[in-house]
Amino acid sequence: MQLCVIGAGYVGLVTACCFAEMGNRVVCVERDPVRLARLARGDVPIYEPGLEALLRAHLASGQLSFSASMGEGVRNAAIAFIAVGTPTGEDGSADLSHVLAVADELGEALQQPCLVVDKSTVPVGTAERVGQRINRRLASRSMSFRVRIASNPEFLKEGSAVEDFMRPDRVILGCDDGQSTEQLRRLYAPFLRNHERVLCMGVRAAEFTKYAANAFLATRISFMNEMAGLCARLDVDIEDVRRGIGSDKRIGTHFIYAGCGYGGSCFPKDVRALIRSAELEGFEPGILRAVEARNALQKTLLFQSVREHFNGLLQGRIVAVWGLAFKPGTDDLREAPSLVLLDALLAAGAKVQACDPVACNGMQGRYAEALESGQLQLTESPYSATESADALVLVTEWKQFRQPDFARIRGLMRMPVIFDGRNIYDATELAGLGFLYRGIGRPLAG
Ligand code: NAD
Repeated sequence: MQLCVIGAGYVGLVTACCFAEMGNRVVCVERDPVRLARLARGDVPIYEPGLEALLRAHLASGQLSFSASMGEGVRNAAIAFIAVGTPTGEDGSADLSHVLAVADELGEALQQPCLVVDKSTVPVGTAERVGQRINRRLASRSMSFRVRIASNPEFLKEGSAVEDFMRPDRVILGCDDGQSTEQLRRLYAPFLRNHERVLCMGVRAAEFTKYAANAFLATRISFMNEMAGLCARLDVDIEDVRRGIGSDKRIGTHFIYAGCGYGGSCFPKDVRALIRSAELEGFEPGILRAVEARNALQKTLLFQSVREHFNGLLQGRIVAVWGLAFKPGTDDLREAPSLVLLDALLAAGAKVQACDPVACNGMQGRYAEALESGQLQLTESPYSATESADALVLVTEWKQFRQPDFARIRGLMRMPVIFDGRNIYDATELAGLGFLYRGIGRPLAG
């Protein structure tokens, strides 16, 4: 099939590469010239395992190409996927300016009928708006055809995006006509050979499903963080509780980890957007508000613990920070808990020595001044980050941080204190090595 994917970010680029891998001919339209130039030479601008190999293979095979021009992108395309960002707008709603701009461009560029599929996460009713906008422009250009629209929300996870796209748990097809459903079913068939997990529903239900899924996962996290707060006061280890409830099949083990809050480009903005949708309908989203409030509080917890430990005196203290990305496996720093911690530590006068396997490049803009002055140092090795440190704070549970040589770290640090923002370390073992250990919702150790 001839396809167009608009937007070459985490979702668009993975979508384009994976459809090309299945033998489709894909043109990916990207408006950022720097990103475009890098992609055209086979250089992936984001960190995503397996993506570079696919990109290079299909640039070489000719199955995949990139363009700045919508006209070029949709020429002969049977399906156009919109995969541009929908960040939080001023009032908390999803900012649809990129999506609607794409609709206008499509309305100007299309020369033939095409199925337009929304892959971006957008509020209920957006696909309809997109379709109307495109068709209005087609009418004003005196074109005789109109587009059909569909919603195909994306469920890939950063860090395993290629794998998730290639082997999806399920594919949601939101279509209001049979022809679009059949077209998308055919396109996705090679990804679903061993199971038939295609869920067909209406466009609006598909749009809502994506928000409900993310809001539910965020709710599980905030619920566990609330339980952790109570555990800490009752001298109970939340990790025992997590194992205890996770073994119940009705609850399951996913997304019940207490920690320093959720971040990333989806959960925070999608919970906010859903709250705003509810407000616009005059419906009170009490649970969602609580989920968001708990998370905001949770993100400040590590700093509070560090500050308390040093009796509020952080000026001149050296704090090692392990992990900056919002989760392991990605370089994405959007709404990462690490940023809340770093901002507070730097404002309090601490020196920060931070290490992340892939996310350091993204620190240049926001922390240019601190990097310049040396108040913030980025290290390649996790051990270098702990040199002369008064505290070590684990923020992102990358595999490289899971089983370090604590005896070596004990020798490097000025004061042996570990704040474990993901509860990955064994409190008793660390106490035995002479560390003071502070987890989230765990009894004090050491
Ligand atoms: P992103 O910011 O990484 O990428 C968006 C890309 O679109 C950028 O490269 C941008 O330059 C480009 N773009 C914007 N306007 C354009 C235009 N008019 N023409 C061409 N290109 C344009 O965003 P993302 O993380 O890939 O997310 C995209 C959408 O998918 C969002 O709605 C998001 O909520 C949703 N989503 C994201 C994830 C994820 O894990 N990142 C997962 C599922 C769904």
